[in-house]
Amino acid sequence: MKRYLACFLLIPLVYSAEAQLRSPADFLGYELGERFTPHHRVTDYVRHVADNAANVDRIEYGHTYEGRLLQYLIISSPDNMAKLEEIRTANLQRAGLLEGVPAEDTPAIVWLSYNVHGNESVGTEAALAVIHTLVSSTDNDVQTWLEKTIVIIDPCINPDGRDRYVHFYHQTRGHTPNVHGEAREHSEPWPGGRSNHYYFDLNRDWAWGTQIETRQRLPHYNRWMPHIHVDFHEQSVNSPYFFCSGGGPLPCVHHLMAARASESHRCQSCTLFRRRRLAVLHQTDFRSVLSRLW
Ligand SMILES: [Zn+2]
Repeated sequence: MKRYLACFLLIPLVYSAEAQLRSPADFLGYELGERFTPHHRVTDYVRHVADNAANVDRIEYGHTYEGRLLQYLIISSPDNMAKLEEIRTANLQRAGLLEGVPAEDTPAIVWLSYNVHGNESVGTEAALAVIHTLVSSTDNDVQTWLEKTIVIIDPCINPDGRDRYVHFYHQTRGHTPNVHGEAREHSEPWPGGRSNHYYFDLNRDWAWGTQIETRQRLPHYNRWMPHIHVDFHEQSVNSPYFFCSGGGPLPCVHHLMAARASESHRCQSCTLFRRRRLAVLHQTDFRSVLSRLW
């Protein structure tokens, strides 16, 4: 009798937890894209998702020079979430970074990084949409993705730079946005939001680790060694979508694999974008630069 009673008590608790999960629009009070979301509200929403969705872990990995929170979410199917440590360990064993025999058929690990350049500011808004979709959608494709992958989402790598841009934009925009390219709201003053507190381009810091944002992030990245890392940037308003082509020379197997993966991703992505009549670009001077600087 006690067991039945416990079941009756648990059902409404589980139901109410799922029912409390809110969309970004409902939580923030506006549709994503209508305005920029400052970092403290991004943090509020990410916490809300972690508190109200069953298949999410939230990890705080540090703070910026200006004291803003750095964090990421791990999202996957309930089965995968129950054996996260086994999956992580197997990946490191397979990579030769840990002793032991890896478990078979573990899911792929995908790391999504948003807004390393703070004034490419739609990235974090997109991250909120992706997070909500992954934790709430019952679409078959989404469920399959979560069964086959561990998705790690860092919604904002550079909160100091992004908030610098967002505050500038909110202070200079009128009641309605002005699409004219010469309007004040489109002329960001120096130093702009691209860099962090010390005006350092964090996109150049993955290799050197001179800034605390990078130094706090890298140990977590290395704990997972993701198979795929997507580094979300933003081109200017009239520019086409850009996909990195990779570049030569190819001095070792790692570079060769990276180039082939990049080529494969580029082809598939370009096809999808062109199908939607969106302009894409992949042959520019960036080609030889990005493969070295990232
Ligand atoms: Zn960028």
